[in-house]
Amino acid sequence: MSSESRAGFSTRSVHESLGFGGTTGAVSPPVFLTSTFENGNPDGFDYTRSGNPNFRLIERTLASLEGGRHATSFASGVSAITAVVSSLKSGDLVLAEENIYGCTYRLFARVFAKFGLQVRYTDLSRPENWAQIEQSKPTLIWLESPTNPLLKIVDIAGVSAIAAQAGVPVLVDNTFASPYLQRPLELGATLALASTTKYVNGHSDCLGGVVATNDPAWHERMVFAQKALGLQPSPFDAWLTGRGQRTLALRMERHSANALELAGWLEKRPGVRWVRYPFLPSHPQHDLARRQMKAGSGLFIAELACSCEAALAFCRRLRCFTLAESLGGVESLICHPASMTHASVPAEVRRQVGIGDGLLRFSVGIEDVEDLRRDIDQAMEGISR
Ligand SMILES: *Cc1c(COP(=O)(O)O)cnc(C)c1O
Repeated sequence: MSSESRAGFSTRSVHESLGFGGTTGAVSPPVFLTSTFENGNPDGFDYTRSGNPNFRLIERTLASLEGGRHATSFASGVSAITAVVSSLKSGDLVLAEENIYGCTYRLFARVFAKFGLQVRYTDLSRPENWAQIEQSKPTLIWLESPTNPLLKIVDIAGVSAIAAQAGVPVLVDNTFASPYLQRPLELGATLALASTTKYVNGHSDCLGGVVATNDPAWHERMVFAQKALGLQPSPFDAWLTGRGQRTLALRMERHSANALELAGWLEKRPGVRWVRYPFLPSHPQHDLARRQMKAGSGLFIAELACSCEAALAFCRRLRCFTLAESLGGVESLICHPASMTHASVPAEVRRQVGIGDGLLRFSVGIEDVEDLRRDIDQAMEGISR
């Protein structure tokens, strides 16, 4: 594959993930449904918890796509997060962006806090807060960009440069952008993590996670966590992820084009308070988003001028958007945080952090954009009646 290491993104996404056809000529790789391997085999496999040909194929591909030397595959995004955090020790401090994925927050607060891990939250989208890196000397910086669900943008190169001066590694959860739109390692981050369940697989048919890095010591920690904590994916899920990611570039182009068009249209439609999408000029960090990302990805949020009940009823009238958690699949989904992901948060607190009763998160799929627009339009008409 070395002659292909300089090939383009789509070429690598297709070719790096093929192999292990043996003498059969199979173009698509087989699924290696085996728990163990005969001792002394030339490929060096021993037991599937610590490696399998299907893991190796997606690890090689995702390392290449993230622009890193190494990648390690896991059973889910949460497994990948667990792998990284379990390599820290009691008393270590994580300085985290305040608007991170809920399950990451829960792992920090309900699991790793018991083992003495300290986590401090700050708004890393504001450069004036970067001084805390030098002041608190954390063991690790943890951020997402765009963030969930508010789609804030954090300047990855800016944070990474300050962190490098202080000798602090930076982890970026790259799930919302995918390596096609944004490559944190090339911007100076130490670790690029993704829930491959979302855009990388893109077909909502399995869970997976990955951590990519150029740092051999971090790579060793990830390989150790994969086998020592039993965080490995199943060979079949790894195969599905490998199959899904081959169309990542095509899908991200369509997700982004559809989302840009819908978000721009919805922003001007009566009955909508505001829309936030990184590639619309109305996004407060529009310039940074354009510098850091190749396109805006498939997610936008909109606040409808209506009650919690009316917003949920709007979601139920949609035909092309399924009311469901998750994102990044070929099919469009919609999420109503006030009654779903953030239902347990008191309404007052929700409003303070910017999650109003009428807030909706759209995960725009790859359908025909005209159908999606018509669908939203008919569901909106129901609100005014
Ligand atoms: C979904 C998600 C995760 C967790 O991934 P799973 O595959 O569901 O375990 C982590 N980070 C972000 C940003 C996510 O959207």
